[in-house]
Amino acid sequence: MPMTINGIGTQYYGRKNPRVYSGVCDSCQGNGTLTDYETGHYFVVVFIPVIPLGRKQIIAECSSCRCHRDMPLRQWEQMREESLNSGLEQLGDSMDDPEKAIELLYNMTLFNQLDEAMELAGVTAKQHAQDFDTMVNIGSWYEQQNQPELASNCFSAAINLNPEHPSSKRIQGVQAIEDANPIAAAQHLESLRLAVASYDPSLFYMLAICYQDQSMHEKAIEEFKDIIQRTPDITKDKSFRKAVRISEKAAGSPTTILPKAGLFG
Ligand SMILES: [Zn+2]
Repeated sequence: MPMTINGIGTQYYGRKNPRVYSGVCDSCQGNGTLTDYETGHYFVVVFIPVIPLGRKQIIAECSSCRCHRDMPLRQWEQMREESLNSGLEQLGDSMDDPEKAIELLYNMTLFNQLDEAMELAGVTAKQHAQDFDTMVNIGSWYEQQNQPELASNCFSAAINLNPEHPSSKRIQGVQAIEDANPIAAAQHLESLRLAVASYDPSLFYMLAICYQDQSMHEKAIEEFKDIIQRTPDITKDKSFRKAVRISEKAAGSPTTILPKAGLFG
């Protein structure tokens, strides 16, 4: 990490080929916006760059704490060439293996080759249109790339191929929540609630909030209660407690389903 004292030290100048994405910062653990970009690293005197110390690739710079990793640009470019070439080679060797295509797709994304990645996603989705996992994987990749329409096409295809698959249920459940239809959502998610090993409290929290937004507070409280039974630690979370109280107040509940707050509750 570059640093200057009294204007003397090293600093980055410039920002090329940025890739902005969301993720968790290694340093502050915050969930936010991360950026990869190329920059020049300079020795500076009174904040004036005097000696170029080489181009750098900045990796995962956090928008809140500015922490990041870096590596010499040449090394980064070499990694990119190697990873993409070997990916293409492997794909050429086994054109029928959608997993190779998905792996290459994610490597292209990591190295900011988005035009190529979009092309590969389209070709792979077409070639493996009958493969459930591929359609879900590519749909979720499109979603990350902010392509909701393309994502939704892939997800619909996956649901048609295997409507009973847990991923299909999940996609339809989340879709119904987004459509503010908690009753349909609850139907889609019911089989996932029973699958103990893959139980995901965030889905049911979304469902509870969806009931709450529709003023169906009794149903919301039922969901909150179920979440607490399965993941008791969640009651330590401030925003969870707040959400429960909103529905309890609106429903006129004389008691609360929340355990007594701890020291920091
Ligand atoms: Zn950070």
